[in-house]
Amino acid sequence: DRLGWSRHIRFENVVFRYDGADEPAIRHLDLTIAKGQRVAFVGSTGSGKSTLIDLLIGLLTPTSGRILIDDVPLTYDNMHLWRQAMGYVPQELFLLDSSIAENVAFGCEADEVDRARVLRAAEIAQARDFVETGQAEGFDTVVGERGVRLSGGQRQRLALARALYFEPNVLILDEATSALDPVTERKVTEALRRDSADMTVITVAHRIGTVRDYDVIHYMEHGRILFSGDYDSLIAT
Ligand code: ATP
Ligand code: MG
Repeated sequence: DRLGWSRHIRFENVVFRYDGADEPAIRHLDLTIAKGQRVAFVGSTGSGKSTLIDLLIGLLTPTSGRILIDDVPLTYDNMHLWRQAMGYVPQELFLLDSSIAENVAFGCEADEVDRARVLRAAEIAQARDFVETGQAEGFDTVVGERGVRLSGGQRQRLALARALYFEPNVLILDEATSALDPVTERKVTEALRRDSADMTVITVAHRIGTVRDYDVIHYMEHGRILFSGDYDSLIAT
């Protein structure tokens, strides 16, 4: 059912140029992400972090070079399998006009929603408290255009809960905790580490402090990875 990826994701000499752009946004990038690793991308604005994530989730296709999952090139035909294996958390959450529970179990019919899984996902995402104590109907509160308005940080936590509900093998976050205060952000990171220890986590972060305890931090500039290493080695350079 799922793409049985068991070893690594690999970028092989990947170049990506947006239509009409003079310069490529990703230049000859080689990268290996091992299963179970926690990997972060940092770097200045415009350095290519989101482009790299969009290539990884198959939203963009390399101009040249390849992306391989366990040595199998990602193609149009096997992309759906890769998509089932991953949970992607965008910066902005798309909310349905329905209950919070249905928004977490995105795409499930109301009677298919697994409450226990909703609660577990919400707990890891640090969303359970504000939903249960702050919303009139708890997880049955209707949100969205015609429902209750949520803050940016609340929306981000629901977006994370939505990805976690489907228990992905790999979790991909593009500044997905940027609206959270540092204490809540740290709680999310710690809960992820505790509850989903074997999950591969790939994240884009603005502040390097957020990803101190990640296995590998890649520092990007002008579409290239300039340094890779753990927090201490990166701070030393
Ligand atoms: P930020 O930290 O601001 O999110 P980023 O590292 O995610 O930046 P990207 O969004 O990947 O950077 O952008 C990399 C380069 O590609 C930039 O020069 C940007 O202007 C360009 N770019 C991004 N999206 C497009 C697009 N849709 N069309 C053309 N150029 C784009
Ligand atoms: Mg970006």
